[in-house]
Amino acid sequence: MIDLRNVNKWYGDYHALVNVSETIATGEVVVVCGPSGSGKSTLIRTLNRLEPIQSGEILLDGKNIHDRDVDVNVLRSGIGFVFQQFNLFPHLTVLANCTLAAVQLGKLSARDAQERAMALLDRVGLAHKAQALPNALSGGQQQRVAIARALTMQPPLMLFDEPTSALDPEMVGEVLLVMRDLAKDGMTMVCVTHEMGFAREVADRVIFMDQGAVVERATPEQFFNRPQHPRTQKFLADIR
Ligand code: ATP
Ligand code: MG
Repeated sequence: MIDLRNVNKWYGDYHALVNVSETIATGEVVVVCGPSGSGKSTLIRTLNRLEPIQSGEILLDGKNIHDRDVDVNVLRSGIGFVFQQFNLFPHLTVLANCTLAAVQLGKLSARDAQERAMALLDRVGLAHKAQALPNALSGGQQQRVAIARALTMQPPLMLFDEPTSALDPEMVGEVLLVMRDLAKDGMTMVCVTHEMGFAREVADRVIFMDQGAVVERATPEQFFNRPQHPRTQKFLADIR
């Protein structure tokens, strides 16, 4: 589904992604981890062109997404992105937040969007909050709305950048549960997260980044029990 080939990115003089080559298959759940500043967010943001790259290519179903003729809006409407900050519109109800993009981009009629969004809110356990405003919800609930909102577009691919990092600890579990449910359902997912329990139990593969490069990729079993690279070993020792 996604093929990164020798991707390099610079912020000015700073080499933020160094020769990254990865293949992510349909239905695969990949967890990206690594120390702060290692390029995890940069990597994930290049996948829907929130960041340009300077060399290499990123193929999504065979099509180079950084080609000039790719319509960014069409590209992004097929990729769900969930950030650390939920970025819900405060003046719109939960339901309206979920339906907005699908209706505005002409993907769904207002009625179909509402129907689908209600089904997804139900799936994340928040159908009863459909008419509430985001500020009336807890952080965990808002993040679950953000996930439902992304899913309303029926994207074949979901990207998560530290979706639980801004949450109070007691709300982390409910968001991870929704992500776990999505994974079980066969969604292709790339997740930047420090939740090593999630990585261990849900990921098909773990990618470890250091200084802009992928220094290790492994199954969770290998990654946590037999890390190969000294940087990975140190990272795991530090967080234990
Ligand atoms: P964290 O765990 O703290 O979120 P990260 O692995 O996501 O870190 P990135 O945000 O991808 O790291 O940043 C990688 C490097 O690129 C860092 O050194 C950062 O300072 C730098 N960087 C990120 N965004 C920009 C930008 N817009 N302009 C210049 N440098 C940037
Ligand atoms: Mg980051």
